[in-house]
Amino acid sequence: METREINALVDEISNHLEKPELYHALRVQSSIRSITSEFLKDRNFIEVPPVIISVLTDPLNHPVFDPTIDYYGYRYSLTKSMIFHKHLLTKHFDRIFTFSPNIRLEEQDKVRTGRHLAEFTQLDLEMKGATRDDVISLGEDMIDLFKRIKKTNEEDLKFFGRDLRIPAKPFKRIKYLDAYSEYGEDFEHKLSSEMKEPFWIIDIPLEKREFYDREDPSRPGILVDMDLIYPEGYGEALSGGEREYQLDRIIERIHKKGQTEEQFKWYIEFAKEGLNPSAGFGIGIERLTRFICGLERIEDAHPFPKIPGHLSL
Ligand code: AMP
Ligand code: MG
Repeated sequence: METREINALVDEISNHLEKPELYHALRVQSSIRSITSEFLKDRNFIEVPPVIISVLTDPLNHPVFDPTIDYYGYRYSLTKSMIFHKHLLTKHFDRIFTFSPNIRLEEQDKVRTGRHLAEFTQLDLEMKGATRDDVISLGEDMIDLFKRIKKTNEEDLKFFGRDLRIPAKPFKRIKYLDAYSEYGEDFEHKLSSEMKEPFWIIDIPLEKREFYDREDPSRPGILVDMDLIYPEGYGEALSGGEREYQLDRIIERIHKKGQTEEQFKWYIEFAKEGLNPSAGFGIGIERLTRFICGLERIEDAHPFPKIPGHLSL
């Protein structure tokens, strides 16, 4: 790499770190972390440390580059999400959460959304024996953190000129196929731009999601899962739902996805031992910061943003 290029990057990073937007956004993010962890601990969740490398990670449902590390002859992936680790933990812990750094080497075209980084943190949680309704209502209660943020970070929100609305509960629930037939392919963006409060997209069709989201036994092809979408055009906030836990269902779903048992052999072995019904969700911390502060781009919610396709520190 040429010195000129290195100098340009150093300048870019120094300018970014000096921005008052970053300072105020990180103060808000710091409050988000403490308020959410206090909220969850009050509800008997235990915080567990994140997993950074593993022989098992989320296959995701969209293409990303896939880095692996060869370590003493074993192939480890960088964590894309802790979905499987969360599910395994519910065998021994009723309620867990983690601030999980995720590496998703997103394709360059994702930059245009303003909400994709190649490295971000998910507040990821899981509840043994829970239903989708349980995690939806937990999510709605958690969003009440807006009230506390408005108090503790009044100065920061003033800096952004952000008049944060406290959404009324319960949030609206819209079925995926209804949204699709009314607004077409781009429904998420259209609805997000139109709405004034966060809303749920529920009942996502099976082929749109990974194999571990539970298919509704009474409605084949429909999953018992959900996304929370921010209003004002900020897009997806979180994804979650109930999990497949029966061995035969897991294997069938892996095949349906065109994936192999070999890819998920570790998980299958645990499923043979028996997994629990559980439900949970993961919410992106930088996106939450972006929404609360009203930032145009997610980069201002991270001191060292990894911008897809762009050289980053
Ligand atoms: P997923 O399970 O893929 O929906 O990811 C869970 C949550 O993590 C999403 O709802 C987002 O809030 C966040 N997230 C996912 N991918 C990214 C990304 N590339 N950059 C920032 N946040 C992300
Ligand atoms: Mg999602």
